[in-house]
Amino acid sequence: MATLKNQTTCPYCGVGCGVNTTHDGQRIIAVSGDEDHPANQGRLCVKGSALHETTAMEGRLLKPRVDGREHSWNTTLDTLATRLEGIIAAHGPESVAMYLSGQLLTEDYYVANKLMKGFIGSAHVDTNSRLCMSSTVVGYKRAFGGDLQPCSYGDIDHAELMVLVGSNAAWNHPILYQRMVAAKNANPDIKVVLIDPRRTATADLADLHLALKPGTDALIFNAILAALAERNALDAEYIDAHTEGFDAALSAAQTSAGDLAEVARKADVPLADLEQLVDWFCTTERTLTFFSQGINQSSSGTDKVNSIINCHLATGRLGRPGMGPFSLTGQPNAMGGREVGGLANQLAAHMDFSQSAFVERVGRFWQAPNMATREGYKAVDLFEAIERGEIKAVWIMATNPLVSLPDANRVRRALEKCELVIVSECMANTDTLELADIVLPASGWSEKNGTVTNSERRISRQRGLVPPPGDAQHDWWIICELAKRMGYREAFDYASPAAIFREHARLSGFENNRTRGFDISGMAELSDLAYDSLKPIQWPVNEQAPEGTPRLFADGHFFTPNNRARLLPVTPQAPKQQPSSEYPLIVNSGRIRDQWHTMTRTGRAARLLQHHAEPFIEIHPDDARRFQVEHLQLAELQNELGRYRGRIRITDQQRPGEVFIPMHWTRQFTQTGISGSLFAPEVDPFSGQPESKQGRATLKPL
Ligand code: SF4
Repeated sequence: MATLKNQTTCPYCGVGCGVNTTHDGQRIIAVSGDEDHPANQGRLCVKGSALHETTAMEGRLLKPRVDGREHSWNTTLDTLATRLEGIIAAHGPESVAMYLSGQLLTEDYYVANKLMKGFIGSAHVDTNSRLCMSSTVVGYKRAFGGDLQPCSYGDIDHAELMVLVGSNAAWNHPILYQRMVAAKNANPDIKVVLIDPRRTATADLADLHLALKPGTDALIFNAILAALAERNALDAEYIDAHTEGFDAALSAAQTSAGDLAEVARKADVPLADLEQLVDWFCTTERTLTFFSQGINQSSSGTDKVNSIINCHLATGRLGRPGMGPFSLTGQPNAMGGREVGGLANQLAAHMDFSQSAFVERVGRFWQAPNMATREGYKAVDLFEAIERGEIKAVWIMATNPLVSLPDANRVRRALEKCELVIVSECMANTDTLELADIVLPASGWSEKNGTVTNSERRISRQRGLVPPPGDAQHDWWIICELAKRMGYREAFDYASPAAIFREHARLSGFENNRTRGFDISGMAELSDLAYDSLKPIQWPVNEQAPEGTPRLFADGHFFTPNNRARLLPVTPQAPKQQPSSEYPLIVNSGRIRDQWHTMTRTGRAARLLQHHAEPFIEIHPDDARRFQVEHLQLAELQNELGRYRGRIRITDQQRPGEVFIPMHWTRQFTQTGISGSLFAPEVDPFSGQPESKQGRATLKPL
């Protein structure tokens, strides 16, 4: 059979690399980096280059199931519509919820939100992006008036100082990290600073590593803001012309972090190292500050984000080459989900429930009969509402909350009690599927057709190149077919993902007179052919910027009511989950280099398991002695919520008193390695994002 070549996008992280595929129309045979894609310029990391090894058909979910029995799509969707309508009639629209995923394509996300928020009338639509970067969303909205990422990857080539906070980019955003390495190799005068409790692989690039006490990030950035003022390194002209809130932010910074020696003591870093960071920050115009889950997954993540942004606003360091605060998103389409309103407090096109005008506008555009008027439950609250019996039906798509949410055992109990659990999934064996009443087989990467948006606001095409196996169907099709059965035929009668994308683009420009930053109205009339051949492009894409926009805020225009950026007063907060005499170890969780999320795909490639083949516990030598565990011995972390079993890895890259565990392993791989079972559902009060970077436990050798 002849082979074909097509371009698509990698589904494994927010870098959003372009991928060249070779396929025979039935399966992907080979992949390579797409040299034309600006995100990766021909490179792929180990996960991306193994993509074709993780798409084998074994283990795929092939048939719809109702109550354990296989059925046709017709029967399954009829049954689903009848059961949902029954629950809505008995308990109201807010008894129904969806829990979505940053793995979904923008078009899938769009119709899911439209159905729930506009037609069923429930805003209980949240997503696993809540666990990933929702604190950044709130931080950006507070500072800029919108969920607006200012920078581009190209800024790395212009920066003179790169600060990475709570980010192990070397493992989690490898192609972006390689770009940082290339920039530093080309110009060794570029300074790189890592701020992270662990000495991760990213430290290899750093001139300076601040192994701070977990949770003291805002203290460090408040210290920088206070020092900028003390050393006359502020941009007073920029502050006057384009911002508000500076005095209160500075006062809070000086109160909490005016004395560097005291900050160094509280953050448990050498004073000389802190002074070096402050010196570089005060004297380097072209400064990029990257931040990721180490900032977001915190009970004060939103304030941490704003403490970083404050330093950039106070120096006017954004909107120009080589500078700005830069959130590195985890999932391939966390950004696209945000664009269509994938979070429970959002509406579509970067509108939300904060203004009745937004609700009215979206409702009018959709001609929605049952527009939700108030925000829904965020992820942790949503599963608590299921446990209380308030939510009777939940539709989970492309995610495995039994593993990824905090207090995983409680999530299991909640789903066991839920009247109707619907799961859309590619794989036949996931923890969450075990509890599903209705199972919907979904298409996966290389089968699905649509768009994703990466960390730099770049929309790229994921292309459907091979047919889905068995009866698997595209998520957008499943949602629309259900909507039609619930009486909403006209509003969900899309011929293709291209038609959904055009509607999404039209809504982004609908009555948007430069009041919202997200605007892709320039793509509202794309033909099917133009959509299919769409080149990667950074939004906004509109009349003023038909070729896209690499950098935001160059003109000092923000999207707050008075068009000024806001500095926020930040009072640093300690993490909620503190060690105790019974549970003396701080537990940190995160990703490893070669695995993605709950390993349903990457766990299938033998070479990706070579790096780390089983759950582990990284621990400092002092703690290994204290808890009497040996290198490579099996041991168990325990606390009041659950247990996690893994192999001990003794390393001085951990701070004493702290352990690190990977987040990936599920019950499919191990009965006792689920990291989420150790974390309490403590959340940031503004974003609802769980504190997944700090739990507590004791350790027992096995
Ligand atoms: Fe895929 Fe991310 Fe690796 Fe790029 S960096 S190839 S998007 S996993």
